[in-house]
Amino acid sequence: METLIISGNDDNGIRIAANIIREGGLVAFPTETVYGLGASALLSGAAKKIYAAKGRPSDNPLIVHLSTPEDAEKFAYVSDTYFKLAEKFMPGPLTVILQKKDIIPFDVTGGLDTVGLRVPSNPVANKLIRYAGVPIAAPSANLSGKPSTTRASHVINDLYGRIDAIIDAGECSIGLESTIVSVEGDNSLKLLRPGGITLEQLKECGFRVSLDKAVTQKLDDSERPAAPGMKYRHYAPRASVTLFDGDYEIVKRKLYELRDVDGAAILCYYEDTELAGLKNSIVIGSRIDKQNTAHRLFALLRDIDCDSSVKDIYAALPEKDGIGLAIFNRLIKAAGYRVIKV
Ligand code: AMP
Ligand code: MG
Repeated sequence: METLIISGNDDNGIRIAANIIREGGLVAFPTETVYGLGASALLSGAAKKIYAAKGRPSDNPLIVHLSTPEDAEKFAYVSDTYFKLAEKFMPGPLTVILQKKDIIPFDVTGGLDTVGLRVPSNPVANKLIRYAGVPIAAPSANLSGKPSTTRASHVINDLYGRIDAIIDAGECSIGLESTIVSVEGDNSLKLLRPGGITLEQLKECGFRVSLDKAVTQKLDDSERPAAPGMKYRHYAPRASVTLFDGDYEIVKRKLYELRDVDGAAILCYYEDTELAGLKNSIVIGSRIDKQNTAHRLFALLRDIDCDSSVKDIYAALPEKDGIGLAIFNRLIKAAGYRVIKV
């Protein structure tokens, strides 16, 4: 299949992409979180095409993207809590899980009777949804299991020839996928996946928030994940990832010991002066600027994949405050929960 590359500045190109979506095709598009692989959320056959293009298991639900928070009423049963969340955080990197209405086909939701709704703030994404005139179901635009795509070049590497079009609008500002919450009751939420909207921000707005176990820990084989996608290997580069947990000075010493190990790459921060200069270390950003680390993480994992000499990646287990919780969650999943206490 010939994949059309469209510039995010090309209004007519976005109209063409919207038409492709309306007619059941697949378009990758930028959002403020990561690139999404979009199809009409009202056509069940279109969702199937997304699963096929990504190689994604079909019980892993898709997030449905809307151009305004009010549109949620057409597709799901909304409550006061939803509207409070919408007022504070939409448009933006928040997905809310609600009971779905019949108009959303079950293959979009992986067979669930709930649907995840999000209103992206990226103006290109918003325009595409408006021009399409239908909600857009979109998972991250990467091959299943690989790190999400935060630049059009990543999408081209993974999906060129497998989808109808790619809209290129540069780098995604946040760089990690949306925060996902389910509404459990009045003002009461469960955090299923951390992201650009932090646990602290939700609490500051007066919501009671419980943290789903799968955010920080591996579930037992008998446990059913609340967010089905969380059971799969995710965000993983080709090289294996191992995380060290413990006193930061001891962790740094452990990482330093790997300086001459064949095939090992050390992820470190700019402030870790003894590590940052090593020939096999990769500086991920500043330890105090977590937004920037989040923004760069997936691009960095993809860059490391281009260097075939790297077989094993080592890093410190991230701190869990603010957007750090999202970085923690993505890295433990990339590591397949391989965390070594030091
Ligand atoms: P992605 O679009 O690749 O970032 O993945 C979307 C993720 O959202 C899925 O893997 C699920 O974990 C989660 N999700 C989407 N819809 C639902 C839903 N109805 N219930 C629970 N989790 C959901
Ligand atoms: Mg994904």
